[in-house]
Amino acid sequence: MASAYRWFLLTALLGVAVAAMACPAAAADKINLLLIDGQNGHNWKATTPPIKAMLEKTGRFNVEVLTSPPKGAPKEDWGKFRPEFAKYDVVLTNYAGEAWPEEVRAGFEKYVNGGGGLVVYHFAVQSFAEWEAYNKMIGMGWRDNKYGESIAFDDDGKVVRRAKGEGPGAGHGPAHAFEMQVRDAVHPIMKGMPAKWMHASDELYHGQRGPAQDMHILATAFSAKEKGGTGMHEPMAWTIPFGKGRVFTTLLGHDVPQTVAPGAATLLVRGAEWAATGKVTIPVPDDVAGAAKPDAPKE
Ligand code: ZN
Repeated sequence: MASAYRWFLLTALLGVAVAAMACPAAAADKINLLLIDGQNGHNWKATTPPIKAMLEKTGRFNVEVLTSPPKGAPKEDWGKFRPEFAKYDVVLTNYAGEAWPEEVRAGFEKYVNGGGGLVVYHFAVQSFAEWEAYNKMIGMGWRDNKYGESIAFDDDGKVVRRAKGEGPGAGHGPAHAFEMQVRDAVHPIMKGMPAKWMHASDELYHGQRGPAQDMHILATAFSAKEKGGTGMHEPMAWTIPFGKGRVFTTLLGHDVPQTVAPGAATLLVRGAEWAATGKVTIPVPDDVAGAAKPDAPKE
């Protein structure tokens, strides 16, 4: 090999290496995330922008937002609502509203079944009570107690199944700050998270209902009876496989302050990365760990 050519090859390779170092998350390496909103009994217009911002701030995501037609919109408008799921690695739903058109539901099932990721955020668990596949994906949602089973933990950490029609249906007491407790410290989403941390004042959902199959509970919160709760440790975040797809659900985040609270935000972005790739590289920020010591004396 001529030395000039060898030199050319070497510098070309170096150039590639330097370029790769300069942009660790070049556009091609980024996770393409589709955030769907447009209907929700909650303040979705306020929560979507900070969710998008917190995902982008990690440097791991390209985020596109798709807003559905409003409630009661004519059929023609829904005819234009055709998310191209296949273009994305993960879909995040901030949607709780009318049923999507049959064609969209079929496409969504195919997408998740084929390996697409899904993140279900807060009141999105209220959506689509009639859609069987969606209920399998979320495991449990905001339904009454006749809808299906429910899972919670007792004080000994034992999983208790509450049968259909027995025990509480979906609800929450008055919002209050509560402690999050990690139930699987080695799962990629939870690894490095403090074992316990204080969450902002938020709704502590209880009695979520559904098929409750294949649920892997990542974190719970104690639902105190004196706070209008159940006296059980209610699941706050979990994963479920759906075909080849990964689904991550978090119940935290009623409005903006609850969504951007360090622990809740960290769960959401790491859950999204995991749902997309099966791995988590986004670090746990120090302020989550700091929030883990609510009883520590103030300096
Ligand atoms: Zn809420």
